[in-house]
Amino acid sequence: MRVPGLIISVVAAGLAGSAFAAGFNFNNIDLGRVVDMGQKLATATAEVPEDREIEIGRGMAAALLGATPLVRDDGVQRYVNRIGMWIAGRTERAGLPWHFGVLDTETVNAFAAPGGYVFVTRGLLRIAGSESDLAGVLSHEIGHVLRRHHLEAIRKQALQGLAIDLVGEAVSRSAHFDATPFIQVGMQIYARGLDRDDEFEADGIGVVLAARGGYEPYGLPRLLLTINQLKPGAADLVLLNATHPPTMERLARLEKLMAGKFEIYEHNPTVAERYLRATRSLPP
Ligand SMILES: [Zn+2]
Repeated sequence: MRVPGLIISVVAAGLAGSAFAAGFNFNNIDLGRVVDMGQKLATATAEVPEDREIEIGRGMAAALLGATPLVRDDGVQRYVNRIGMWIAGRTERAGLPWHFGVLDTETVNAFAAPGGYVFVTRGLLRIAGSESDLAGVLSHEIGHVLRRHHLEAIRKQALQGLAIDLVGEAVSRSAHFDATPFIQVGMQIYARGLDRDDEFEADGIGVVLAARGGYEPYGLPRLLLTINQLKPGAADLVLLNATHPPTMERLARLEKLMAGKFEIYEHNPTVAERYLRATRSLPP
């Protein structure tokens, strides 16, 4: 199995405490400056306009791809893009430059970056049993983008003063936007994970968006069940398990959320049936 170097290093950074692992010298840190710079980044993040959000996301996506390239299979990439675009195009942020890709690693995971970047891994595609399962996980990641969860996580980390050297001069240069510190903090988020509540929210959004796209809403919970049945300590699941709430808790929340509410969708036509319905009236 190919182990992505960046993922490993950001995991190490997350485990060891990001400031420490990045080689900072705590003795040299002026605490007043930490708070000051943290607040500057926090303010800047809260006010990030959409073009800068996209720039930050593009940088995070490039860093992810630098560590783990895309699967070299145009057919697979086109297929995943088609599903992703179909779902994202039915959201309130349909106008973002959405990109979907399959990362060439057996690790089971999925990632989103601000501004419309969504990746799933080859390992995840391998265990997803159907297009609805895949649509569910893409919808979950699209949910993170819609709600700007990663930008919010960057802001929170800045407030904790962990981002001191990453803030650098960038934020104080008001006329010029340098996405670098945001991208660097953003990469640490992949190792630390988002807030649990953000994950639960993305799960909820995931089933709704999948259903809106004509998929059965149970794709995401079914995929979570599949993941839950895999060996919990398996190397391919380490990062996923370290950065997400326990799978059974996610399932329990989804069950509560979905109870009764999705019956209407269950009787909805699936994508294939919808196609047949839509084309039935055409002359032979
Ligand atoms: Zn998530």
